[in-house]
Amino acid sequence: MQSLREKLDDGSRFLIATELVSVRGSMSEASAIKARSFANELVACPEIDWISITDNAGGNPQLAPLALGRPLLYAGKEVVIHLTCKDQNRNGLESEAWMLNSEGFHNILAMTGDYPVSGAGGLAKPVFDIDSVGLISLLNKMNQGLGGGAANGGQRLGKTQFCIGAVTTNFKLREGEVVPQYLKLKKKIESGAQFIISQIGFDARKTSELRCYMDAHGAKDTPLIGNVYLLSSRVAQIFHQGRIPGVVVSEPLFELSRLHGQSPDRGKAFFIEFAAKQIAICRGLGYRGAYLGGVHDFKSIESILAMERSFGPDDWKQFAREIQFSRPDEFFYYEANPGTGLADPEREAPRPQESRRHVTMVYAISKLAHNTMFEVGKPIARLGASLCARARDPMQGPAPMRALEMLGKSVLYHCKDCGDCSLPDIAFLCPESQCAKNQRNGPCGGTREGRCEVDGYGECIWLRAYERLKHEGSEQHMLDHAPVIQNQGLRGTSAWANLWLGRDHSARRSDAALKDSEAAPNRPAAPESEPAPGSPPAAKDAKTAI
Ligand code: SF4
Repeated sequence: MQSLREKLDDGSRFLIATELVSVRGSMSEASAIKARSFANELVACPEIDWISITDNAGGNPQLAPLALGRPLLYAGKEVVIHLTCKDQNRNGLESEAWMLNSEGFHNILAMTGDYPVSGAGGLAKPVFDIDSVGLISLLNKMNQGLGGGAANGGQRLGKTQFCIGAVTTNFKLREGEVVPQYLKLKKKIESGAQFIISQIGFDARKTSELRCYMDAHGAKDTPLIGNVYLLSSRVAQIFHQGRIPGVVVSEPLFELSRLHGQSPDRGKAFFIEFAAKQIAICRGLGYRGAYLGGVHDFKSIESILAMERSFGPDDWKQFAREIQFSRPDEFFYYEANPGTGLADPEREAPRPQESRRHVTMVYAISKLAHNTMFEVGKPIARLGASLCARARDPMQGPAPMRALEMLGKSVLYHCKDCGDCSLPDIAFLCPESQCAKNQRNGPCGGTREGRCEVDGYGECIWLRAYERLKHEGSEQHMLDHAPVIQNQGLRGTSAWANLWLGRDHSARRSDAALKDSEAAPNRPAAPESEPAPGSPPAAKDAKTAI
């Protein structure tokens, strides 16, 4: 029996995956019994290469994916467990990853996750301690043998064998959404993602664009799986209304779905054929497989796969012309090839200059102040480091300086005093106060036409950062730094002191910077497994304190 990793490496066969959406309630609940019987049929089907099980999909509490996954794994099917950052901090995620590895679940789809929308007794508190890039980095480090830290006597832990997947979405409207998504995709792959699944979308030009982008940006060999969603007229309406973050059904597709929804079979035959055509497009475009979602009965899967088998080898080219449901003024990275209607990798689309509305006076002052005060090796940075190191509390620095920092940053950026400042990473926009999911390594997939998926947050900070950086011609480099893993132990301490003294994430920003920092006094980079300065005491010490 081939593992998922082996299947992905073996290019001889196009893979088919199915998504199993978990349910609320225990395994004896009627909905869980239905899901289990569907899953049993999937297990018995040799054409299904793996079953993916969701983790509190849509931000709702549901049965843990492990419960549904166990019988499938024991029956010999490859299972991909979805792991998201919305409900657990990094320790909870690591703990769950150890459990998955111990139980034989070696395939994880690592995501930031949907913002919680419900909870028993009221809305759940979102966690977002780390993001998808942080989670991928964590799993990747576990694959290499995680440092055990002081609590484990410094021993390196045994290696896990995770096959790590990630999700990307390019079905976005604005340039400032699409390009950062591509940059984040690169970051996910650099951080350890071994296969990529695209988000739900209904535009073959964007589907082809993703493949072209990956081919042109060093990810030709990373297996790409196309998301194929079996629509119904009701679901098309939900998507059209923007009720599922990051998923779009344009006006023409909504109209088409509505029309077919009025037929005697409520559009079932149409939607089955539509899904089969999308699989054919993915196959034709060189994707490694298709990920079938929105399917809740085995008969539909059989019908989709049978129809796809009935197509001729080149039929997908015609389907790709039919299934192009973009929105007016949608941004494309590549021009369309007039012959095929698909992305032409030889011609990047022109990118008009953005308006200067996000290039504010505060931004200009912030940049100047940062370059003057915080660049490693500059006189003010050296002076700041020396003053903070000699202060009564080096975590806070001299009191007047700390007061100035807190006042200035709260007025200018609505700073939340996290102590591990990401302002310079996001064109001086604060992810703690202005991003609902505290995204520090690029945008989540939930923007709606440039706006944050969570009401009250306005335009996505990453879109605003992109537009600021584009004016300087540096937007393509906005994620050119080591993954930012925020140190929560620095909360309530001076971010200025932490930067000057090499305690924050910027000390690990890049190899070059790391070399500089190692050469500079007072900027030691803490080894991976050691608790960073300002961290809570290690378990051994905590025990003494108790
Ligand atoms: S501001 Fe952007 S990255 Fe942050 S949660 Fe909203 S859409 Fe996601």
